[in-house]
Amino acid sequence: MLPITGGVCATCGERLFSPYAVADGHNYSEPQCGMCRRIEPLFARAAAYGSYESGLRELIHLLKFGGVRPAANALGRMLAEAITRLEPEFPSEGVVVVPVPLHRTKLRQRGFNQAEMIAHAALKNNPARDRLRLCPGVLDRTRETASQIGLTSHQRRENLRGAFRAVQREVVQGREVLVVDDVFTTGATVSECARVLRRAGATKVWVATVARTLKISAQHAEIRPLEDTDESTEPVPLAKAVGI
Ligand SMILES: [Zn+2]
Repeated sequence: MLPITGGVCATCGERLFSPYAVADGHNYSEPQCGMCRRIEPLFARAAAYGSYESGLRELIHLLKFGGVRPAANALGRMLAEAITRLEPEFPSEGVVVVPVPLHRTKLRQRGFNQAEMIAHAALKNNPARDRLRLCPGVLDRTRETASQIGLTSHQRRENLRGAFRAVQREVVQGREVLVVDDVFTTGATVSECARVLRRAGATKVWVATVARTLKISAQHAEIRPLEDTDESTEPVPLAKAVGI
């Protein structure tokens, strides 16, 4: 479970393979992927701790599908590292931290929102917590969304449109917001959250996740690891690799 290294898009964190992609960025220190250069994302920058594979994937499964709550502490430490990378750009008054919400039906089934639980763990004992105000009630997920597996990014955006609602607009009005989640797959979910938050008056939206799916190679740019959805019925592997 090592942090992501090598060339990644400065905006969305996608892996960059082509040296041209790196060199064609607005400047050499801020390389951007083709997607972010074509359409400016609704969030300012997304940071992830690690690649969504092997041990990290197991650990997230353990929490989400196995209900092993102590896994949230380890994941929280990783989320805290992702937040640290964004922190130098946060305004002096800090940011409002908003976990991606679950629909109430899902929340009842699972008994907890993993994004909120990980955010809690990330902020606990965080030296910067004075500048990170956790507000889990800002967004509401108004409808259950169909599985995103096999959908194009356009279809994913359409699938999520109208899925979130800002219920505490006064909390984000004129503020910068940090959206946190367990996994960033195509960014469709956090982008939709960013759209709703900006419409509610947020001046800027940042994104931090524990994991991110990354392109495997330039030749297989469109092939991504299968996304885990809440509908997943995969058995949860034992946590031998993660020491809990
Ligand atoms: Zn990008």
